[in-house]
Amino acid sequence: MQELRKKVEEAEKQLAPQFQKIEKIAQYNSEKVLKAFHDHRVSDAHFTSTTGYGYNDYGRDTIEKIFAQVLGSEDALVRVQFISGTHALTVALFAYLRPGDTLLSITGKPYDTLDEVIGIVDNPSSLKSFGVQYEQIDLIDNDFDEKQIQERLKQKKVKLIEIQRSKGYSTRKSITMDKIKRIVKVIREVDKDVIIMVDNCYCEFVSTKEPTEVGVDVMVGSLIKNLGGGIAPNGAYIAGRHDLVELAAERLTVPGEGREVGPTLGINKSFLQGLFLAPSVVASSLKTAVLTSYLLEQMGYEVEPSYKEERADIVQNIIFHNREDLIRYCQGIQMASPIDSFAIPQPADMPGYNDQIIMAAGCFTQGSSIELSCDGPLREPFIAYQQGSITYEYGRLGIMQAIENLNSQRNELDR
Ligand SMILES: *Cc1c(COP(=O)(O)O)cnc(C)c1O
Repeated sequence: MQELRKKVEEAEKQLAPQFQKIEKIAQYNSEKVLKAFHDHRVSDAHFTSTTGYGYNDYGRDTIEKIFAQVLGSEDALVRVQFISGTHALTVALFAYLRPGDTLLSITGKPYDTLDEVIGIVDNPSSLKSFGVQYEQIDLIDNDFDEKQIQERLKQKKVKLIEIQRSKGYSTRKSITMDKIKRIVKVIREVDKDVIIMVDNCYCEFVSTKEPTEVGVDVMVGSLIKNLGGGIAPNGAYIAGRHDLVELAAERLTVPGEGREVGPTLGINKSFLQGLFLAPSVVASSLKTAVLTSYLLEQMGYEVEPSYKEERADIVQNIIFHNREDLIRYCQGIQMASPIDSFAIPQPADMPGYNDQIIMAAGCFTQGSSIELSCDGPLREPFIAYQQGSITYEYGRLGIMQAIENLNSQRNELDR
């Protein structure tokens, strides 16, 4: 461990310029959040709770205004009734698409948990079962296939374009804001009113701008990821154009009641405090990711992104090319977790996923991935998807433990 400690200290010296950049972005985003709190005169009164139908929830309605302002959106729906990011994405898709409409993904196949929502994998309740068509255009060299997208849009009407920024369990790169800005322009050259929707999971506060600030119509994210700051115990948001947020509210609750209902059951303070901490928590996650990238690359592993690269999300990949290394690394992360450190994660089947998955997640909130967590499907090329860390210090300890675990068991094998 002593040798590793030295290595980490040395790495941190090398990574000073990267860390500085991350801190600067966190400073900028903190200012945005604080200004929104001030503009909306947040006080104790916003922490109060509603039950039952949840009419006139002053805190909830203010939280939605604050999220909209911080995200540079016209409007936002921020609800505890969203049970996950996938649920919010599902609500949005069902809110905007009607029988006969076409959904077009332009970042290849969407996140695994959407397979049955869209109907890529059969399900009697999928969009497909309602007569919604699905098409996709793959990325080429990690960027949008602009020509094919424009050609497709000129043909038959597309109702909604989905862009998934974070890579999910794929091997591609995540999509930076520059690319989002460019593709919005490309789309608008040929289609003025197709709905452009972004799956923004893992991407909030990684840069100084959000997709709705560069022409995206609506975006969706989870509160047990970036914007929950490790404090929100569940929930998700849909932010963007006012009419689209309203449609989503009508689908989440009841047509005719929409956003007027939805009790907050005591959540308001957590949502506000989570958002307040989010810029700094995202920075801790990013620093942990950068340190991981640097150290594992030094050890001879393939990593993505590299420590020097501009990041679009908080996810760090280590491409192990080896089943056992992936398992050991994840087990090491679990060993350094605050919760369930004594548990040894094993590959298992998970609802919504097609391959076995190994998941290290010793988290305060079940399944939270803004807390240090590491997972991966048990398939070639055995990629670890590591993300989160509420503080950099705990993230650093987690990586060191994972590296130790990787090394000690490797040495055992060599003997
Ligand atoms: C996490 C994530 C989701 C939503 O996942 P949930 O676990 O349902 O919150 C969707 N898309 C991407 C790219 C994600 O990373």
